[in-house]
Amino acid sequence: MPPEYSVPNDAYAALGDETRLEILFELADHYDEAWSSGWLSFSALCEQVGVDDTSRFSYHLGKLQDQFVVKEREQYRPTIAALEVVTAIRAGTYDETTTRETTIDASCPHCDQSLLARHHEHMLTLSCSDHGVAMGYPVPPIAAAHHSLETVVDLVLQQHAAHVESLRRGVCPYCWGPATLSLPYETVPEFILQYDTVYATAACEECWMSYPLPVPELLVSHSAVRALYTAHDLEPPATHLGSNSLVNLSDVDLLEDGGARVTISLEEATLVVELRGDGTVEQWHEC
Ligand SMILES: [Zn+2]
Ligand SMILES: [Zn+2]
Repeated sequence: MPPEYSVPNDAYAALGDETRLEILFELADHYDEAWSSGWLSFSALCEQVGVDDTSRFSYHLGKLQDQFVVKEREQYRPTIAALEVVTAIRAGTYDETTTRETTIDASCPHCDQSLLARHHEHMLTLSCSDHGVAMGYPVPPIAAAHHSLETVVDLVLQQHAAHVESLRRGVCPYCWGPATLSLPYETVPEFILQYDTVYATAACEECWMSYPLPVPELLVSHSAVRALYTAHDLEPPATHLGSNSLVNLSDVDLLEDGGARVTISLEEATLVVELRGDGTVEQWHEC
């Protein structure tokens, strides 16, 4: 996080009260009806939230106004920032937290055990019990109540490809701030399943996002790589995990200019992609 960045104190203050959060929850719940019957008037909102003292209610509503609640034609509607707060609180504080596990159709490159998918609280991990975490993704607890673990794993793998594409374009997939890729990443933490490859660093200048990423995975959404996999009837998760994963099929050579050459061999086909030091593609060719 750069030093000039600071959390707006007003935002914390505005949300630090139960009545104000109740107002946001009530407005979020009214979203469906608002399409046909419009937003809520002061008195309707006050009644829905269940506050008798109108001057106290007016005070709290005033604290939310502009940033979280907008008044238009005597009606109050939530801003996108307010809806995001409600979504984050509800998804993150879902009561019935359970831990779910299943083995998936991909094995550890070191011991050939099937990888274990585990969703616990806010995290989905794909890992080998002996060799560490192959992939970890934030998935809120609410997912456990509504979706099978297989669906969650499948979507996380697809999101991973979309996230990498976002990073390659310099966009943080979590906050849309400026993200950078740089290579190599020197020491990969021990809890991570270590592939025999070179790692890059993905990091955001605005938020917490920072993690090591195997260099071949940077190419997961590159058009030539996708074409190569499609030509061999392979789709995710084959691209990410197991014997046909990009990491497994690739050799990485670091170049003197700070970039890297990734050579991907799939059956008779070979694809060579040269990356610059910032992870962007310099050139590629088949041979
Ligand atoms: Zn293992
Ligand atoms: Zn970010």
